[in-house]
Amino acid sequence: MNLVHISAECYPIAKVGGLADVVGALPKYQNSAATTSQVIMPFYDNTFTRVNAFKIIYESQLTLGDTSYDFKILTLKKPLLDFDIFFVDVPDLLFKDYVYSMDDTERFLAFQIATLDWLLSWETIPDYIHCHDHHTGLIPFMLQESFKYERFRETPNVLTIHNAQYQGWFSHDKVNLIPEFDFDKVGLLDWGGSINPLAAAIKCAWRVNTVSPGYMEELKISANGLEHLLSNESTKCTGILNGIDWKVWDPETDHFLISNYSDKTIISGKKTNKKHLCDTFNLDINKPLFAFIGRLVGEKGSDLFPDAFRAILQKEEVSILLLGSGQPQVEHQLELLKGDFEGSYNNFIGYDEALSHVIYAGADFLLMPSRVEPCGLNQMYALRYGTIPIVRRIGGLKDTVIDISETNGFGICHDDVTVSDIIHAINRGLSLYKDQSAYRKLGKYIMKIDHSWDASAKEYIKLYNSIKQNT
Ligand code: ADP
Repeated sequence: MNLVHISAECYPIAKVGGLADVVGALPKYQNSAATTSQVIMPFYDNTFTRVNAFKIIYESQLTLGDTSYDFKILTLKKPLLDFDIFFVDVPDLLFKDYVYSMDDTERFLAFQIATLDWLLSWETIPDYIHCHDHHTGLIPFMLQESFKYERFRETPNVLTIHNAQYQGWFSHDKVNLIPEFDFDKVGLLDWGGSINPLAAAIKCAWRVNTVSPGYMEELKISANGLEHLLSNESTKCTGILNGIDWKVWDPETDHFLISNYSDKTIISGKKTNKKHLCDTFNLDINKPLFAFIGRLVGEKGSDLFPDAFRAILQKEEVSILLLGSGQPQVEHQLELLKGDFEGSYNNFIGYDEALSHVIYAGADFLLMPSRVEPCGLNQMYALRYGTIPIVRRIGGLKDTVIDISETNGFGICHDDVTVSDIIHAINRGLSLYKDQSAYRKLGKYIMKIDHSWDASAKEYIKLYNSIKQNT
């Protein structure tokens, strides 16, 4: 089985969030499950592309409406990953020092068209084309409808929805950017009066999956306008829980950590990492450390942190550390907390991969009061590093964390996203932390919960095979 993943992000090349982690891991595990899995992504101007050497394997021109752009397909001179990776270089559009911005329509259309133009040149076309999120959402439509891609009409494609909040909407004025198709089919592109790449992909893909079963069910009720579409298409839709890259996220070998540890050495290992964090961020190592890592956006519930943290810090002996960036007003309020609670609260506003690993290792609790969480990887990383997750029961969080009040429970769960829910959940964490013997036992237990990709990679193979069985 030969398949290509097409994605805007892939770890370790370009990462904004969980999409990169998934596309950087799933192909590895698929390759060990007897498939040949490759990744095609844009060539950005970033650290990875600056420090590595590439060779050109294909050169051509693509057309976007009335404009032509030169493009190249590049690959690494020396393979660095456990799968083949190809880069679409459209210097005028994609080679930027960011992944997403205001000009995404043209940029990702160019990426998708260049990708398909190149695949057309292959002697043997892939068995499956696997698209990820709206940045590749016009591919299923183009494969089915654009005249120039007729060769792919029988090539099955799959869409994975990592986040349905973002849909890539653009105006019908730009419909001429899409390679020519029978205009009677324009309705396939439309949802609610604009061109909606995610909706088009849900309509045209042969199979659609979300990154957890819980999220798929929730989307049928609330999906930023796509709920009816997903209910109508439900026979081809399913949910497959993400795994985590067991090789990258391993506290025994993680090179970002200050001290590596296993479930046998968890107490001393976590302590060394916590000490480093507390020294760096001026926090008291003797207090329980609650942390948050992620985008500071409404979906993550982070707008409630300033009020919740202030209330907790005024009353309780805790340390809180936050890593993330996003809404400016939230960043501003968090910065104010730093001054008001010096020695108990600190944050790093920005993106820092190495620091995130040390936080997973050194924190005692990880907070995730998400309003929306398609899968959530952070809670699985926390578990792997023996850090107790405190999560809202939603999407993938509901599928992966059991509350300590339930049989075999190991995390702290809350139902709503309010300041008082967050405060209550932190207080439950504090009570648990006071019982050090129960807390330590849980830490060892959660490190052994298996969220590796092996099982999920097999689920994807089953998904591809289900297409064959129906054709
Ligand atoms: P989402 O994709 O919605 O942002 P996920 O939980 O699926 O959320 O994945 C988030 C990934 O991004 C995790 O690997 C997390 O550690 C990482 N991450 C998020 N924000 C930051 C940050 N500021 N610095 C470092 N890593 C971050």
